[in-house]
This record gives sequence, C-alpha cells and structure tokens, in this order.
Amino acid sequence: MTDERRGVYPFCAPCTAASEAWRTAELTGPMGGRFYGHHDVCENCGSSVRTLYNTVLWVPVSKAGRYRIIPTGGRSYVARRVVDEPVAAVVRREPVAVAHPELDATPEYRLAEACWAESEPGQALPHYQAALAEREQVLAADDPATLRVRLRVAQGLLATANYGRAIAWFELITPQLVAVFGPHHELTRAATEAVTGARLMVGGPRSEALLLTDIVAADIDRLAATDRQLVRDRAALGKALLACGDISDAVEALIQVVRDAVPGHPDTAVYRAALTEACEVAEARGKKRDVQLAGAARQLLSRADAPTSR
Ligand SMILES: [Zn+2]
Repeated sequence: MTDERRGVYPFCAPCTAASEAWRTAELTGPMGGRFYGHHDVCENCGSSVRTLYNTVLWVPVSKAGRYRIIPTGGRSYVARRVVDEPVAAVVRREPVAVAHPELDATPEYRLAEACWAESEPGQALPHYQAALAEREQVLAADDPATLRVRLRVAQGLLATANYGRAIAWFELITPQLVAVFGPHHELTRAATEAVTGARLMVGGPRSEALLLTDIVAADIDRLAATDRQLVRDRAALGKALLACGDISDAVEALIQVVRDAVPGHPDTAVYRAALTEACEVAEARGKKRDVQLAGAARQLLSRADAPTSR
C-alpha cells in the first residue's frame, strides 16, 4: 500500500506515477507564473494538465513546464509537475574524444591557445575566430571539437565587453553543448554561467533588447542578409524581445532568422526551437495579432527544414 500504488492524495495512481512532487511557487506579482491550457483530464481524479509560463508584468514569456492540477476551491489548487521525456537532457551522442591533430596544429589555433593560457582572452579572440572558421570547413558546427572553439569565441567576446554578441553566441551554443556533452558537463556549465554574467553586465531584458537592436542594425549595414553573424545576433534579439514581453516583435524577428538560416545546419535547429517557443508564448497569451503571426510562423516551421521564400 505504498503512495506510488495508491497515488498521492488527491491524485490517482497513474497521474501520480507520471508526475513528481512540486512545491507551489509564488505565482503572483509582476514576476510570477500563470497556468494556461486545460487538457488530458483524468477520469479517476479529475486532474488536468496545464502549462505554466513564467510571466513578466503578467505577460507570459517562457514556458516553465507542464503540471497536473486539481482545483481545491477559489484560486487554490494542488499541482504535480508532469515528468516529460527528458529529451533535452539526453546526450545525443557520446562526445568521442576524436583527436584533430591537423586542426590543433594550425598556427591560428596554437596562437589562440597560447594567448588564452596567458589569460589574454582579447588577444586570443581573433585567433579563435580564425581557428573556428578552419574547423567549420571540415567539421560539423556541433562537433565536440568545434563546440570547444565556439565556446572560446563566446568567452573571448564576453571578456572584451562585447556583451550582446557574446549573449548571441552563448544562446546558440548552449543547446548544442547540452545535446553533445550533456547538461552537467563543465563546458555546458561554463556557457550557462557566462551568459548569466553577460546579462548581469547588460542589466535586464529591456537593455539587452536595445543593445541587440543596435548590434543587428550595425550588422545589416555591413553584412549580407544571410550572414551567420547577422542571423545569430537577430536570433538573440528575438529572444530578448520575448523576455521583454514584446511577443509579436519577437516572433517577427525569429521568423526572419529561420528564413535566413542555412537549411539543415545544426544552428538552424536551435533557431527553429526558439521560434517554436515564441509561438507557444504567443498562442498562450492569445492576442489576435500574436496568434496570427504565430500561425504564419508555424507554417514556415512546418515546411520541414527547407529553403523558404527565397
Ligand atoms: Zn488521475
């Protein structure tokens, strides 16, 4: 007669088995959370699955997971967190320590490593950027050997106070680091800590969006529309706008990103995931213009990973 078999009151056994205990967080106030949706109603215990969004100024900005909810009168409820398939947390492939002697021996890479070892990330940065270009010609963008250099480029940008472009790199590579090395690997942790530091320096999503707006404008002046730097910076702008609650601007920016990104490239998968998240927020919020834009975005996303209007 364990709790698992009987279920944790008032949830039935199957609903208990598919969820985990969750301490109800403070969900009120300008920085809080709000449940949307109502589906998978259980005939046994009457619970339903709702999606929790983090909110800023009562505007949903990011998905915080799915919960089984049973209302307990008034505005109160009991909730258990639905255990999803841990897709993102599964290491896609073992980061095989394939040696790349020819890439590790190039002058650019050796210079970069030497500067880094001397704690001169600013001097290392251009050499890492050159070494990264060498690597991406022969290895996948999310190859473990490429990712190590991508992380150094991002860290070099952060160390030289290029906060906006650093954030853009960290946002791109963090999902790739999670997929390739796992969420708890030292490289993944280095990226998540660094982006937190960059955000502290920038000071809030509104400042981040303004900074990235200027960066994207500068990119547009001197780069082709499909240049990977422009695409990467614009993706970060889209995510910053989403964090500000500027949902339709966010969806528009991310639509442009997915249109301009190289089909089938590992980076494009990250951008498509960002657009999907923005669509979920737009649909959850339910404002007509947001929902229409999300519909257009979903159409774009449904066209497989294929070239679009151009
Ligand atoms: Zn149930």
